[in-house]
Amino acid sequence: MNKVYKWLLAVGVALGAAACDEQSVPNIDDLMSPEDSVVVSGEGLQIHDIKFSDDYKVMTVSARLLHDVGTYDLTDSAMVNVDVQQEVKLISGQTRQETQPVVTGVTNVSREQVAKLKMRLLVLVDLSLPQSLVDEERDAVREIRTLFGDQNLFLSFMQGDNVSETYQATDYVINNYFVHHDPDYTYLYRSILTKFSELQDKSTVLGSARYKVMLILSGGKTYDGDQPIDPKHFEMQQQLADKVKEGRGQLLAYYSNFAEKSTTNQDSLFMVPGKQADANIMQYFCKDMNGLWQGEFNWPEIEDDIMKDFNVNYSNYIITLEQPDNKVFRGNRHNLQLTFRDVTNNDLIVTGSTFFYLGSVYAPIIVNGGSTLDVIIQGFIVLFVLLLVTWLVFQLLEPYIRYQIFKRKYVNVYGGNKMSFGGQMVAETCYLCKAPFVEGDEIVTKCKHTMHKQCWDENEYHCPEHGRHCKEGSHYYNSKNIYDSRNALFYLKWIFVAIVSGFVAWFLYTILDHPVSTYIVERIVLLINGLKDGTKEAELSVAEYGSRLTYLPAFGLYVSFYVTLFLSFLTIRRRQWHLRILEMVIRAILAGIASFFCCVVGSIIPIALHLDSNSFLVDWIPWALMSWVIMFAITYATRTRIEKVFLVAACIIGFLSMFIWSVVYTYSFLDYRVALLMSFITYAVCIAVSIARVAPRSERYFLHIEGAVKEMDVALYKWMRTSPDHVVTIGKSVDCSLQLSWDLNGNVAAVQAEIRQYVGSMRLIALENGVYVDNDKPLPIGKEVWLYHGRHFTIGNTSFTYVEKDN
Ligand SMILES: [Zn+2]
Ligand SMILES: [Zn+2]
Repeated sequence: MNKVYKWLLAVGVALGAAACDEQSVPNIDDLMSPEDSVVVSGEGLQIHDIKFSDDYKVMTVSARLLHDVGTYDLTDSAMVNVDVQQEVKLISGQTRQETQPVVTGVTNVSREQVAKLKMRLLVLVDLSLPQSLVDEERDAVREIRTLFGDQNLFLSFMQGDNVSETYQATDYVINNYFVHHDPDYTYLYRSILTKFSELQDKSTVLGSARYKVMLILSGGKTYDGDQPIDPKHFEMQQQLADKVKEGRGQLLAYYSNFAEKSTTNQDSLFMVPGKQADANIMQYFCKDMNGLWQGEFNWPEIEDDIMKDFNVNYSNYIITLEQPDNKVFRGNRHNLQLTFRDVTNNDLIVTGSTFFYLGSVYAPIIVNGGSTLDVIIQGFIVLFVLLLVTWLVFQLLEPYIRYQIFKRKYVNVYGGNKMSFGGQMVAETCYLCKAPFVEGDEIVTKCKHTMHKQCWDENEYHCPEHGRHCKEGSHYYNSKNIYDSRNALFYLKWIFVAIVSGFVAWFLYTILDHPVSTYIVERIVLLINGLKDGTKEAELSVAEYGSRLTYLPAFGLYVSFYVTLFLSFLTIRRRQWHLRILEMVIRAILAGIASFFCCVVGSIIPIALHLDSNSFLVDWIPWALMSWVIMFAITYATRTRIEKVFLVAACIIGFLSMFIWSVVYTYSFLDYRVALLMSFITYAVCIAVSIARVAPRSERYFLHIEGAVKEMDVALYKWMRTSPDHVVTIGKSVDCSLQLSWDLNGNVAAVQAEIRQYVGSMRLIALENGVYVDNDKPLPIGKEVWLYHGRHFTIGNTSFTYVEKDN
């Protein structure tokens, strides 16, 4: 897979956005009311977008604060911890912890925008208030700083008839300057006017800002009893009114009243003479300067207003996370929760969650995973290890164990006459050599034809009557040559072929792209949902189902084609080589196409029913259907009879293979894609074993003879066992295994032909002219032909048919 499949399932994002549309941003007032404090401690962080870098390593989460987090600066890691909780939702519906991404950065987008906008805020702080209120002012400034940072936040302190110079809001200033000073009044209007001029003066730091904001934190005290505090009170009032006209549009002004709680309510304000007028003046001032007047400090309200005025997104954060290397996304739903906590006491500040889908089972996304080459190399290693282990087990270990059991049960030491075994009297002489047993002889009592162990071995590990009359009298184990292929279980070659077929299917599936498969599934998604290509909905819908399903048909095609191709090699027997291969290919192509459509159908079901694409059905139906298609394709019109049990087996294989992949991946160190190889191989082996179970084992083969003699079947397999070197000769000579004594007129040589047995196949070799195969084609001397089931040959007037019978 050169091109990493890039569909990102944005369901979570889409739903998040939809939810956001419905509810809109909750009203700040609602959130701030005491009854809603529970909500405030809940999900206050709305995650509205997730983006991934091209390599899927970096994840960028955009979030919005739904409520105020006070003085906490979420971007300050010395103050705030971020807990990341990413969990994967399994098919069973359960969730499981996974390796967690790491937070690499939290940025406040609003703050960056504020900085970019060259927006500066000046806070006028009233130090004439009691220390408790000054402390509250300090908290307010800290809160403001979370948005403006110390670069764009400035402070100026009012106290008595004095207003200080402008300071940058550094930690030092905030920690040291908020101290109450007597007298307990300020020249409020005068201070405002001074700073107003500074803000208008382009040569000052504040004045040079593009966007300017002034915030006044004050008790608002301008009268002492009936007398204004400032001697020039009314003059200042007038000047302030004038300033509004020239300053409008250049800066925003806000006012927050800081007073003892008992006196903050409007009634008490209005009861004090002059106060009402003052409050009104400040209210008009702020209103005219496009700002707000607050009876009590409420930063979110001010922040919201500033942001609206300057078209800045409100309280947006970008949290960047890095997914660990080699992390695999397989299309499961991943829930992500981000929780900000206080570093010192671990108190919850704010939390938010979302979910996302990424990759798919059939086209996983692996973060900085090994290259395709690495994976292929690992795949080859797995292949060789598996072949070796299979060979060791089925060629050496299993036959050896079976032989030891056989020896323990049936090989005994002769203990004199009247010895009985399994309730049966043991004969006194060897069935093969007829010699009487002597005490201490090793004898084999596998069947009633008791023999010397030596005679048994020499007679190719079975009794002379083995066959129709003695079914149990055999246990092949060549202890002199443990590599004898007949020692191995009959299943060995099936398993070998299956392993190779699984590997080839995996190899091609892994290195190739699958555009046709992708195209078809995407079309289906659009068609079923009635969507037009290129629209936003289409993109979402394709992402939702497509990413998981697009590779599925290709997957089915590869698995079916190669498993059928290789395994049908073992079931097709009746053709010549080129025809045999042709038939294998045709079966494989048909199986491949059928499976492709099984998987397309498997894709349609979840799309049409709008099922969660992680549904059990998505995997199980195509796998089960495919298994059946493959088994049918391999056995149709062969001597292997398809059985009802195949249907059950198909379902079980489909079911099993689904899990083997994730099990292998979860409990081994293998790359996810290599784990897929294990799944392919398991699948192929299961199918192979199911078929092998009912396949004829070709252990009993005959020559059907007709023509010059009464029709008969000659048990060729028996002769092969007893004849040296596994050669049966045919001719007129008495030395021949099969003497054609009945053919008096035919032209038959003394030794006309021989049949040789190779591993798993019979060959006919002409030693003299006069052997005809198939439709009377003469077989040249020395030329070998393969005898397959049903093949004819003629010698003299006798016609032979090679027949394999089951059981
Ligand atoms: Zn004997
Ligand atoms: Zn026997």
